[in-house]
Amino acid sequence: MKNEATLVIIKPDGLKKSLTGNILSRLSETKLKIIGAKIMKVEIDLAHKHYAHLKGKPFYLELIDYITGKKHGENRVMLLIYWGPNAIDKVRQIAGATNPEEAEPISIRGAYGRILTSGLFENVIHASSDLSEAEREIKLWFEPDEIAYDLYPAKETVVKEGKKRIWR
Ligand code: UDP
Ligand code: MG
Repeated sequence: MKNEATLVIIKPDGLKKSLTGNILSRLSETKLKIIGAKIMKVEIDLAHKHYAHLKGKPFYLELIDYITGKKHGENRVMLLIYWGPNAIDKVRQIAGATNPEEAEPISIRGAYGRILTSGLFENVIHASSDLSEAEREIKLWFEPDEIAYDLYPAKETVVKEGKKRIWR
């Protein structure tokens, strides 16, 4: 079996419901390695890029509100990169079906997800769907130096003078 990397996002409802520990425990059943992890606030541009393939769907704008934390007053997500044999399918299996009602009850989405009155699937985690999506998503959310393994070819670049926030 081929080693793969896959992106998991614990969505704002997962953090709000204090499910990070449970979710990490469930994902550790895969015996995959975590090679990247961080908590981030989700800027709107990144949300649009992440879900670009769903633009135009009736639930799209609500989905953007969801992932950016507007529905939960909780703008954090937790990002994890899992790596190992068949990682994408293994994580999708434990995550469960997109629709929490159809997801296996013992899957993460089956156990903790819900469908809102609006119809939106509030399903606790994101998991990459295939190899090319995994690469696209990992490159969107992580920089090369934030990942323990060299997953994809990278290059050095000279950083121009500019503004950035530092501790005072
Ligand atoms: N989603 C939804 N209704 C749908 C399809 C998707 O609310 O009919 C939401 C749901 O939160 C899902 C996300 O949009 O996780 C991304 O959809 P995708 O089809 O990529 O499903 P996933 O890969 O997350 O299972
Ligand atoms: Mg998807």
